[in-house]
Amino acid sequence: MKIAKTVLAALAMTSVLLAGTAGAADKGYVGIAMPTKSSARWIADGGNMVRYFRDAGYTTDLQYAEDDIPNQLAQIENMIVKGVNVLVIAAIDGTTLSQALQTAADSGIKVIAYDRLIRGSANVDYYATFDNFQVGVQQAESLVQGLRGRGPGPYNVELFGGSPDDNNAYFFYNGAMSVLQPLIDAGEVVIPSGQAGMDKVGTLRWDGSVAQARMDNLLSAHYGGGRRLHGVLSPYDGLSIGILSSVKGVGYGSGNLAMPIITGQDAELPSVKSILAGEQHSTVFKDTRELARVTVGMVDALLKGGTPEVNDTTTYDNGVKVVPSYLLKPIPVDASNWEKVLVGSGYYTVEQIRP
Ligand code: BGC
Repeated sequence: MKIAKTVLAALAMTSVLLAGTAGAADKGYVGIAMPTKSSARWIADGGNMVRYFRDAGYTTDLQYAEDDIPNQLAQIENMIVKGVNVLVIAAIDGTTLSQALQTAADSGIKVIAYDRLIRGSANVDYYATFDNFQVGVQQAESLVQGLRGRGPGPYNVELFGGSPDDNNAYFFYNGAMSVLQPLIDAGEVVIPSGQAGMDKVGTLRWDGSVAQARMDNLLSAHYGGGRRLHGVLSPYDGLSIGILSSVKGVGYGSGNLAMPIITGQDAELPSVKSILAGEQHSTVFKDTRELARVTVGMVDALLKGGTPEVNDTTTYDNGVKVVPSYLLKPIPVDASNWEKVLVGSGYYTVEQIRP
């Protein structure tokens, strides 16, 4: 009898717990469409969002599209069919989703552009991102600071841009050029290849091997006769790693050929390790935990019928409307501050960086 009572009590407790779980997770259903798992940052973004949404009482459907546009479109259409209340989308190509987003709007589904602006659609409710222009400014400032630290110019520099179908790539590039163009005009920075402008320096799908191949070509076409490469503007760690392989392949970083100053973005582990090894010069840290928090806050406000907090209502015109945005602050990272910024914030443990 006593045993039976205990069992019953345990069963009752289990059902309370189960009900508690179900109850906590019925605030809404969120579809999360991420571009690719080939970069650690997007894995972190997805993981953080699933965790924070769950903690806030939502269920999620997280999908990665491996940088394949039709694949991402199909995933989003599928989420709409499954009846999500909100779509959080980091688009591969910011211009290809209009039809699906119209269907979403017709079904009353809210849409948040995550990190990358979705272009050409009125059906984008909010945008959560970082100050992307400032990312470019920080990259170029770090490049210039690294170059000047080596001695006086003029400095031979090559420019790399991100994927031309990603709106962010233009912001990064324009931010960087706001710092570099005056130095180019003054002759302190020289671009021996003459290649400038996103149409010439863009890197489709942010592909490191494409950047590596372009760097190989630049070196063989423009750096003969003892001309030295002093710096490379790289907008993303995955490209920086490819560029580093290329320059190392022709001897930079050994003998009397100093490694060029190479920038980056995302503070991905291979790049942070490379910074510590004296190869990559810098990166830009964007705390994906904060971006996930802002996004969950936006969804929560929207689904409660409220108005999400934004801090920018002028910058992000997607061609149809200015999308109200929340911009987080990026932080430049190099050998002087990696521990304070990356370990101090709990983003990485010191063992992950320096095993
Ligand atoms: C993101 C960057 C990232 C790049 C490549 C951009 O849209 O803002 O953080 O480096 O995509 O994944």
